[in-house]
Amino acid sequence: GQILDLLASFQKKNGMAVLMITHDLNLVRRFADRVIVMENGHIVEQGAVADVFAHPQHSYTRRLIDSKPVRDVAERAPLAGEQAVMQARAPLAGEQAVMQARALRVGYAIPLPGFKGWFRHGEFVAVQGADFDLQPGQTLGVMGESGSGKSTLALAALGLLPFSGELQVTGQAWGISALSNKSLRRVVQVVFQDPFSSLSPRLTVEEIVGEGLLVHEPGLLPAQARLRVLQALLDVGMGLGMDESQLAGLLQRYPHEFSGGQRQRLAIARALIVNPLILVLDEPTSALDVTIQKQVLQLLQRLQREHGLSYLLITHDVDVIRAMAHDVVIMKDGKIVESGSAVQVLTAPMHDYTKTLLAAGG
Ligand code: ADP
Ligand code: MG
Repeated sequence: GQILDLLASFQKKNGMAVLMITHDLNLVRRFADRVIVMENGHIVEQGAVADVFAHPQHSYTRRLIDSKPVRDVAERAPLAGEQAVMQARAPLAGEQAVMQARALRVGYAIPLPGFKGWFRHGEFVAVQGADFDLQPGQTLGVMGESGSGKSTLALAALGLLPFSGELQVTGQAWGISALSNKSLRRVVQVVFQDPFSSLSPRLTVEEIVGEGLLVHEPGLLPAQARLRVLQALLDVGMGLGMDESQLAGLLQRYPHEFSGGQRQRLAIARALIVNPLILVLDEPTSALDVTIQKQVLQLLQRLQREHGLSYLLITHDVDVIRAMAHDVVIMKDGKIVESGSAVQVLTAPMHDYTKTLLAAGG
């Protein structure tokens, strides 16, 4: 939002023309006067933004506009006084949270400026005083501008970064020191943003998806493990309708043979295969085209309903939050500035920063 405002001010001052390339329709709507829609190297439609959005002529344009994610999640009963209490408040207490953080603080060691830095490290605090509860079968959305500490929070939630404060998973202490606790480690799995770099190019589909079984169920026979890999693939919508030899072929393929959306399905299958309770999703659809994004979000919604999964969903996209989240925390400069149910935070934001974020997201 800030960058666009800056561009708009230059544009006004200098009469500058801007050619903006993006897959973000909200940005086009907010910023552009005219729009060109491209598909497979061809311009399929162009015109004034208002016209194209109101009366899309080409089927691909219609599909793009239609790709806004739709909310289709199991809603919980309204919490006591949810409508009435429209004020910032402590995280929801009472229910048995699957993940709970209190006063979570994560710092990175950084060199001190000047020659002091040769001898000692300073600390940059990337997350400070974070409290949140993740409820069973629900999604906690984490929103904030880039650099606000979202990914740091995710890595701490995965037990991969040292932190101070309290973090519990299913009521048990969680963190780096608990990593050897395999049964707890299985509970929390991850899907990263970029499916092009998060899957090893040297491993086959079977190796990628089955990797967690080697750690968590080493006693499985190869045939049993293969069956589990196939189940996980079918669960994420890959290999449907294939016969036995096609499925065997699928298992031996490499990530580069798949599109971004399919790769993200593989990443989700890899997380699901060990039957986790919690998925940490760090910008899981930001690297995907909008039409694919919608499909992956639908998949995540179905998996949540079918498996009762809890998602810690990090995103900077308000539409994704609207479609997915039950509760929301808003981060700025490493701190949670606002939290509450998604309904509350999205419809009646208290903090100015939240209002700015919502406005920037269209
Ligand atoms: P977000 O995911 O919200 O964009 P991050 O959690 O990646 O934010 O980063 C939060 C802050 O911590 C940023 O200022 C970033 O520069 C800093 N940071 C992230 N990783 C490191 C690191 N390994 N060492 C030092 N600073 C870091
Ligand atoms: Mg990040």
